Amino acid sequence: MECNCIFCKIANGEIPSATLYEDEEFRVILDLGPASRGHALILPKKHAANLFELPDETAEKVMVLAKKIAGRLKEGLGADGINLVQNNGEAAGQTVFHFHMHLIPRYDGDTVQVTWTPGTLTDADKEEILKLF
Ligand code: AMP
Ligand code: ZN
Repeated sequence: MECNCIFCKIANGEIPSATLYEDEEFRVILDLGPASRGHALILPKKHAANLFELPDETAEKVMVLAKKIAGRLKEGLGADGINLVQNNGEAAGQTVFHFHMHLIPRYDGDTVQVTWTPGTLTDADKEEILKLF
């Protein structure tokens, strides 16, 4: 565990949290500053700062777990949709540098913002980016 990582402490039970789910590798908690009712966070118990540090096996399991928790939230809270949000790096809005996946229940007509202004894919960008893969 990385010292002084708050999500390591929460994930491993050193700091109490509102836990919705726990297994050997993950803890799912309610976000303390929720974007909406039921906003939850999936935390791996083993520290990885972000997606790039996350082992592949953990990454695979995160999506399966997200599907399970999202279904429960949707049904239990009567949500009309769910956003999965996962920020990597300050530029992307990450504020806690221990990988986490947000599950944000959405309700018809809510004012939650998980949005951007669409730009235009230029031919030059398209060519350049396609060459990278
Ligand atoms: P991000 O901006 O993706 O790094 O998200 C960090 C999230 O962690 C925010 O939604 C915070 O509200 C949430 N958060 C920070 N500290 C805690 C905590 N102690 N318990 C639960 N949620 C937290
Ligand atoms: Zn950590």
